[in-house]
Amino acid sequence: MRHIIVLAVLVLLITGHAAADERQSERDRMVRMQLENREIECEATLEAMRTVPRHLFMPLNVRHLAYADRPAPIGHGQTISQPYIVAMMTEVVSPQADHKVLEIGTGSGYQAAVLSEIVDQVYTIEIIPELADWSIGVIEYLDYKNIEVKTGDGYYGWEEHAPFDAIVVTAAAEHIPPPLIEQLKDGGKMIIPVGSPFMTQNLMLVEKTDGEITTSSLMPVRFVPFTRHDD
Ligand code: SAH
Repeated sequence: MRHIIVLAVLVLLITGHAAADERQSERDRMVRMQLENREIECEATLEAMRTVPRHLFMPLNVRHLAYADRPAPIGHGQTISQPYIVAMMTEVVSPQADHKVLEIGTGSGYQAAVLSEIVDQVYTIEIIPELADWSIGVIEYLDYKNIEVKTGDGYYGWEEHAPFDAIVVTAAAEHIPPPLIEQLKDGGKMIIPVGSPFMTQNLMLVEKTDGEITTSSLMPVRFVPFTRHDD
């Protein structure tokens, strides 16, 4: 009898869970195959990647690609990064529960949501107004209260909320914008793809220690270009 009750509760839990989010098992698999297998180790990052419903940040016509090991188009010539890249960029800035993080390149809003699961507050800037509006819609629908989206050129950072514990830039810049270095807290970390648009870029980790800047090149990547208003 006891076994039957335990089984019934399990079935209820499992089906309830499935109804709440029918794509949870795809996300769990994505985390195992694409992240844990490639040495993403930070438990907070893995848990955020298991939790955030990536498909809901994507336009309907590409949602079937949401948990595949690849980037996907989100309209306006932009892309949502491959899950592994999102997780790696999250892990490498060592996000903590009391952190304030700046993201440049909101796009779909997905990377901001992953960060917001871990840190206290995320500020994110998107240069294409339609994408900023889209991400705000999804963020409100999913009831994330600790993400603030602004439309504008992220080159200048977000002075009003600086300094930031971490800065995550998701568009490839030709150089590291000096205002972002300035707005990084001492002891903070920034991750940014640097290089020419439409070519392979270097994913750079920038660290500020006692006012000194050190940079290290992590891996070759391909990101959409960091654009400026007058481009
Ligand atoms: N982080 C996003 C990925 C978006 S792709 C996600 O999780 O979906 C990079 C985004 O950077 C694009 O939406 C692009 O419009 C934006 N972008 C490019 N240059 C920018 C700039 N100067 N300021 C703010 N956003 C910029």
